Amino acid sequence: MFNVETIRKDFPILSRKVNGKPLVYFDNAATSQTPQQVIDVIVDYYSNYNANIHRGVHSLSQEATDKYEQARQKIQNHFNAKHAHEIIFTSGTTHGINLVANGFSSLLKKDDEIIVSALEHHSNIVPWQMLCERSGATLKVIPMNQEGELVMTEYDKLLSKNTKLVFVNHISNALGTINPIEYIIEKAHQVGAAVLIDGAQSCPHIKPDVQALDVDFYVASAHKMCGPTGEGMLYGKESWLKKLPPYQGGGEMIAEVTFEKTTYADLPHKFEAGTPNICGGIAFGAAIDYMNAIDFDAIAKYEHELLEYATKQLSQIDGLKFYGTSKHKTSVISFNLEGIHPYDVGTILDKLGIAVRTGHHCAQPIMDYYKIPGTVRASFAFYNTKEEIDIFVSGVKKAKMMLS
Ligand code: PMP
Repeated sequence: MFNVETIRKDFPILSRKVNGKPLVYFDNAATSQTPQQVIDVIVDYYSNYNANIHRGVHSLSQEATDKYEQARQKIQNHFNAKHAHEIIFTSGTTHGINLVANGFSSLLKKDDEIIVSALEHHSNIVPWQMLCERSGATLKVIPMNQEGELVMTEYDKLLSKNTKLVFVNHISNALGTINPIEYIIEKAHQVGAAVLIDGAQSCPHIKPDVQALDVDFYVASAHKMCGPTGEGMLYGKESWLKKLPPYQGGGEMIAEVTFEKTTYADLPHKFEAGTPNICGGIAFGAAIDYMNAIDFDAIAKYEHELLEYATKQLSQIDGLKFYGTSKHKTSVISFNLEGIHPYDVGTILDKLGIAVRTGHHCAQPIMDYYKIPGTVRASFAFYNTKEEIDIFVSGVKKAKMMLS
């Protein structure tokens, strides 16, 4: 049974004050907060079994290795990958995208095309631009409309036999739009293109099934779903991961090294050079356990209620304009107050203990589309409440009064 008051007790940070006021944390799309259950796992790791993994004969090393590999299996089960070795530990979504982009350097040639969307985070634009520079391939963009949705009829027109890769985020971080990834994947496969879905924003709200989606690559960050920063995952279909060359060279990723030739380790180690964030991986597994114990359907339903409640309250403020008004969206509200810079609104809200994000949200093309410098973004998680939304809405009214 979903009970927000019980859930809130799991998050020590939610009871602190900021600028003398109780914290209202609405910057969840940037980073989610960490429950005690995950903090305990981190403390337990460093207190009891901190050791390097995989090739140590001693007990601590084996204990750490077992826990790390168990976390990989938790991630495999959560995303429903066929094999545990299709899950590569990364430092986050950005790392996963760069790993794939780097791997495709040797597979692409001039005249090949890559499709991204107008709703992407910079981390899903820049690596592909760099890949185009290296390979001579061309970048094409699925356009967006005023509601902040991708225009699928235009996507259909972009696809051709030259399309080799399609990269789209599952949910836009700046607007909260949920993109029709099932359609995008199916159409891309019809022309033989591979698809990478950036799940950084979907992983806290939706439990994706990578096999049912038939997606080629899926990336996510632990810190968006109650886990630690600097930790994430890349899912890749076994056939693709075998085809891609390694991203980084170093220890752990080799089978045999001589000065004449090095052979690489099997999956997943081929992509995991060096000592990883061992504690981070184990804590990622704990975060997945925590969120599944609450239940993703209950989380999505409750967050949707928060979204509707906040949208209704904010709509009553004159001069407030929403960006991203799709019916298919998650609990993100992006807005501006007429004639007022988003940064000033964010600064006043901070004085009231309310954390929101302001600016371009690493999605400058979206801001260019709307011809604005940025927005105020409030993003809700399952531990937020309607009472917090009331405090936030009265804060926005206060900011408007002070800055008009
Ligand atoms: N893609 C999207 C849609 C995001 O929201 C983010 C994080 N804001 C990223 C990629 C990058 O994630 P990370 O910084 O954890 O690598």
